[in-house]
Amino acid sequence: MLCAIGGSFFVSQLTAAVEWHVIKINGRDFLSVDNIAKFYGFPNPTINGKNVDLNNGKNEMQFHLDSREILLNGVRNWLSFPVFVHDGKIVVSRIDLAKTLEPQLRPNMIPKLDRVRTVVLDPGHGGFDKGAISGYGYEKDYALDLARLLRPLLQAKGFRVVMTRESDVFVPLELRARIANATSDSIFVSLHFNATDRDPLATGFEIYSLTPRGAPSTYEDGLTLASVNIQNGTEADAASVELSSCIYHSLLGHIGEFDRGIKRARFAVLRLTKIPAVLVESGFLTERGESRLIANPGWRQKLADAICTGIDNFRALADSKKPPLVVADYRRQKPGGAAPEKESLVNPAAPPTLSLDMLHSERPSENPAPFQTPTPSPIGSAPVEP
Ligand SMILES: [Zn+2]
Repeated sequence: MLCAIGGSFFVSQLTAAVEWHVIKINGRDFLSVDNIAKFYGFPNPTINGKNVDLNNGKNEMQFHLDSREILLNGVRNWLSFPVFVHDGKIVVSRIDLAKTLEPQLRPNMIPKLDRVRTVVLDPGHGGFDKGAISGYGYEKDYALDLARLLRPLLQAKGFRVVMTRESDVFVPLELRARIANATSDSIFVSLHFNATDRDPLATGFEIYSLTPRGAPSTYEDGLTLASVNIQNGTEADAASVELSSCIYHSLLGHIGEFDRGIKRARFAVLRLTKIPAVLVESGFLTERGESRLIANPGWRQKLADAICTGIDNFRALADSKKPPLVVADYRRQKPGGAAPEKESLVNPAAPPTLSLDMLHSERPSENPAPFQTPTPSPIGSAPVEP
């Protein structure tokens, strides 16, 4: 149990109490990696060049100095702020600790993790909005097909499934969110395929949940007034990150496409939904090889199977606190599947690509308010922000 006392807060367990020492740097709160290691019971970090490794046999983290990119339990995550050295200490922002690391390191302690009975599937685009286009077809059609493949898989596992569209029609983003918010005991999964006009060779999977309050989205590298999300968080934020994690670990664990990472964005469907919500990008239609795979119905079935397993893992966590499988668990399950070479940040991914979806779906928050220093809730306390 974590308690907040005055300006400091600490964990009290039967054996140890680890106090948090918040380090203020330019008005922002940071915590040292040593402090984080102690709190979560990691042995001392191993430093190898710019990589900082933590492993306690249960969880594994690799930070990369001066980078927002980390590996968390074997998959890439994008922090809101870089990890860096300050006064001889490696520091991580409190927002990142509270909003990205904590939910994934201790998923069974996520507050308000409600039972899941219904999955709202949201096939992206539709009608005149074709989405991305490859030499083989349109994103809107692939997304709808993926949702149609997922629906019976989820129903077979006892989920109720609601679709935001069942045919090739345009559904406004606000309406999609309204459909999601009208369901109870539910989660929202938006299905998309990726595109970029910056890098024709870009491939791989990525998944998004809402940008934390006081933080920039993943593709924004400069910290400007406009880049910082000023929208209040919701009670579902921590659950959304963990839903991202469950689906993403299953996708990468079953299908060996490039790991672009667990990311953050202010897509309308993520901003406007009040239930745990994620947006999955299952490969690039602008890359020749991947666009050919996506055009193959058998490939889309594999995607549906993997996403279904991830959703089922999230339900097991929410319903019975069962720890979700991670990428290495899935790879071990593969018949004869030796674990692939361990990923390392020695060769980090290219900086986040601005996908075309970003351009048309991410809009700055309405009513831009004067900038205030964000005050995220302390780690471990309720994730709800004022
Ligand atoms: Zn899309």
